[in-house]
Amino acid sequence: MESETSPEHLRQELAQLRLELEVLQREKLDLEIMVENITEHADAIEVELRARNQDVQELNERLALANKELEQLASVDGLTGIANRRRFDMTLEREWKRLSRDQKPFSLILGDIDYFKRYNDTYGHQAGDECLQKVCQACHACAKRASDLAARYGGEEIAIILPDTDSIGAMYIAQDVRRQIRQLNIKHDASPIGNLISMSLGVATIIPHNQLRPNVLINQADMALYRAKQNGRNRIVLFHKSL
Ligand code: GH3
Ligand code: MG
Ligand code: MG
Repeated sequence: MESETSPEHLRQELAQLRLELEVLQREKLDLEIMVENITEHADAIEVELRARNQDVQELNERLALANKELEQLASVDGLTGIANRRRFDMTLEREWKRLSRDQKPFSLILGDIDYFKRYNDTYGHQAGDECLQKVCQACHACAKRASDLAARYGGEEIAIILPDTDSIGAMYIAQDVRRQIRQLNIKHDASPIGNLISMSLGVATIIPHNQLRPNVLINQADMALYRAKQNGRNRIVLFHKSL
């Protein structure tokens, strides 16, 4: 038997080791190729991911824009372009809470076009729509402060929310509304009280508090408006308890 240190044995061992080294070098080469492939693949994935992230970001931006447009559409009256009833209700509620906290006066104007049915009957519904658009835009222009809001309350009824405004300020705005509508100079020959489109307005002012609901303010402005109609139309009435 050969000794483990004999030259022949050592030669055989060396040959065996060379074979193993060759195999290992081949495996190393394979691994290097694999690593290179994986790196290329990872780079491609990263590029793809970046592109997708950009797509997602673009989609998010478009979604935010669409949401804003939707919110805008949901709060604007289609015919007149001013705030709709939904926006009025939301704003009234929000401002009521804010002014309850701050203990500041809250005024509301309710306006209603005089003898508008006769206007439609005389000039047609299309002309009625156009008249309504002009009147609403005039009201909108009178609501000048950022927190003021002119809204279409009903068919030919307009509400103007005036936060942090006392009755003197609200009466001033109501007079401005009447003046602006007069200056529109829209002929209304079927009106029994003149020959131009006019509006009756009811004004109410309250310092809100937690025990009161905003309906109280609406009811008071509505009562004042009713009184303005009763007293001959084309006028402004400020709510007071003995109405
Ligand atoms: P008053 O002075 O008492 O307010 O009389 P009025 O004729 O204005 O009131 P009434 O409630 O009898 O009639 C309201 C009219 O407003 C009837 C309705 O056809 C008209 N109207 C409501 N909404 C619109 C609208 O969007 N377009 C048009 N053209 N007319 C409308
Ligand atoms: Mg009406
Ligand atoms: Mg009317």
